Amino acid sequence: MNEKGVLVVLSGPSGAGKGTICKALLEKEDFWLSVSATTRSPRNGEIDGKNYFFLTKDKFEEEIANNRFLEYAEVYGNYYGTPKEHVMEVIDSGRDVILEIDIQGALKVKENYPGGVFIFILPPSMEELRNRIIGRGSETPESLMIRFKSAYHEINYVSKYNYAVVNDTVENAVKKIQSIVAAEKCRVDRIKEEILDSKEGLIHEQLYD
Ligand code: ADP
Ligand code: 5GP
Repeated sequence: MNEKGVLVVLSGPSGAGKGTICKALLEKEDFWLSVSATTRSPRNGEIDGKNYFFLTKDKFEEEIANNRFLEYAEVYGNYYGTPKEHVMEVIDSGRDVILEIDIQGALKVKENYPGGVFIFILPPSMEELRNRIIGRGSETPESLMIRFKSAYHEINYVSKYNYAVVNDTVENAVKKIQSIVAAEKCRVDRIKEEILDSKEGLIHEQLYD
């Protein structure tokens, strides 16, 4: 069987735990994580090319003009985008790809690639979301308010996704995502061709093994 990889798109409000879950998932599964480009400044400890490709606004706009993004969006006053290069090649090679992107970006990907698996990460409560954003210590009071207010609006978009995962503990959330991906890989519409191609082999095994 020559199955394509699965494109997994994780999104949800800021502070829901997407980055944390992604990191924990990558320790268990051989996903290819797409590194996004952004015009926001690096946070303490963030490395160019690893966490993001940090670009100037001019450079980012040049990349948009050259059609280099699978999707891009303006989030909290900065540009963020998924470089197009490699994503489809990696999927075609059979490896699973993960995108951790905002809701506008996820919906653009869904329009162009409906075969993706769209997972919305939810916080256990709005109070816990607020505590987590404060606890991360990465935002100014103003940016915290913007992210928190946006979260109320963003949660309505959960209905556009295939799956919702509540991030109560990171371990539980990772287990649920692993189960979702395992189930997706068994979906008949995803593997129909491969089953039909290998039908002779299956019948042979049933008759003679
Ligand atoms: P996002 O990428 O969605 O903006 P982060 O992964 O940065 O969110 O998580 C926001 C904060 O919440 C971080 O400080 C992180 O350590 C913490 N966090 C994430 N998941 C959990 C969890 N299940 N329980 C407690 N804290 C969490
Ligand atoms: P942060 O600044 O906290 O790293 O990210 C802010 C938001 O931008 C998060 O919701 C994150 O998922 C989103 N984001 C990160 N990379 C991309 C991307 O390539 N495209 C889009 N549309 N959003 C992204």
